[in-house]
Amino acid sequence: MRFNCVARLDKLSRKIAIKLEAKLIDHGFVKDQDDPQLVIVIGGDGTFLLAVHEYMDKLDDLCFIGIHTGTLGFFTDYTDQEFDSFVDDLLHRQAKEISYQLLKVTYDDHCYYALNEMRVENVSRTQKIDVYVNGEDFERFSGTGLCICTQLGSTAFNRSVHGAVIQEGLPLLEMSEISGIHNRYYRSLGSSIVMKDDAKIQFEADSFDKALLCIDYMTYPLDGVKKINIELSKKHVRMLRYREVGYFKRLKSLF
Ligand code: NAP
Ligand code: MN
Repeated sequence: MRFNCVARLDKLSRKIAIKLEAKLIDHGFVKDQDDPQLVIVIGGDGTFLLAVHEYMDKLDDLCFIGIHTGTLGFFTDYTDQEFDSFVDDLLHRQAKEISYQLLKVTYDDHCYYALNEMRVENVSRTQKIDVYVNGEDFERFSGTGLCICTQLGSTAFNRSVHGAVIQEGLPLLEMSEISGIHNRYYRSLGSSIVMKDDAKIQFEADSFDKALLCIDYMTYPLDGVKKINIELSKKHVRMLRYREVGYFKRLKSLF
């Protein structure tokens, strides 16, 4: 089995990565950074995002599994205290595979994929965004911006803007406002809205100048852009699961 470890830069995570690599190589695993079949993520949910983006072009050919150095995460099933049972499961047990759909964001000739969310944010001026869903005119938003997240991303930025947390297994998209203005001149829904997994959303503006497109932890300037398309993609992230960690146990460990 070809594998690679992606570890957070802190001491503990790096130490675990070194120990794990040695152990797996001992058991016949082969380290292959470019073409792994298994990517082991050591760190937090943020490290998981990094690893997924690092292997974005190879998602069909590999699986992820994670060790969390800290508390349980949404992408990670083992804590650093459970190192031995992690190795034991990996070497001896049959895993279940679960997969998560990525968001696809396209405009002009750009195409990006997000695991957590996409956001359009403009901190320099009031951003107006005309929102269309499946070709239907839905609303004109005014404010800092809009966030569209996946089920998995519902506990990330979405939660910071009071979007609903979505239980695992529900295929959908959620759109939330970021500092929307609601007064006698500006009117938009205000609350978060959950949409079906086949929703095709379009953001249009006279100008997105000075706004940023945020894709998970990355940002891209939107100067000159007029139209952005958002939908769930056909791309999936595959994860190995050796044991059932209840969704509400994970959720509880978040706060
Ligand atoms: P980061 O430090 O990697 O992540 C920020 C925090 O968000 C970390 O505590 C991270 O958990 C947590 N997180 C990431 N994905 C999550 C998920 N799906 N469910 C629950 N918690 C999650 O920061 P970054 O490098 O800028 O990464 C950007 C990501 O951070 C974005 O996708 C965004 O959703 C998320 N985030 C941003 C805000 C905000 O700006 N207000 C708030 C919450 C989350 P770990 O400590 O386990 O890595
Ligand atoms: Mn982090």
